[in-house]
Amino acid sequence: MKRLKVMRQHPTNQDATTFGNLSRAALMSLIRSKGNRTTEGRMASLLRASHITGWRRHLKLIGSPDFGWRKERLVLFIDGCFWHGHDCGRNLTPKNNAELWEIKITATRHRDAANTRELRRRGWTVIRIWECQLKREPDSCLRRICSALNL
Ligand SMILES: [Zn+2]
Repeated sequence: MKRLKVMRQHPTNQDATTFGNLSRAALMSLIRSKGNRTTEGRMASLLRASHITGWRRHLKLIGSPDFGWRKERLVLFIDGCFWHGHDCGRNLTPKNNAELWEIKITATRHRDAANTRELRRRGWTVIRIWECQLKREPDSCLRRICSALNL
């Protein structure tokens, strides 16, 4: 397995991550940066800062993945906690029309699962990251991507 060169350059710096020599603090500040208004924008700048290349946005595939690496057959979805029904406390169902929201969100969850299955059946590696997870632990999200790309 190929390893990132940067891993060897800072073996003693505990705060250094393996991604483009960025510290965890630097990753967190990228995530919070004002220029990154959308979740997708945050992911894109993390990828750029970490020198992870070869991705495209919105490949024309089932479920319209947010990011895709065609050659490596990897797709990445960033799922919003509300719409995709994450059980993390950020998806409190609005009191108005609660039942309707529940139905919509349940349908989205089923569609997500079906899309993931179908993409995998077609030979794609599928990574789904929750919006809140990207905010809390961008380094572990990047680790999953790197490992899927054999970086
Ligand atoms: Zn969440």
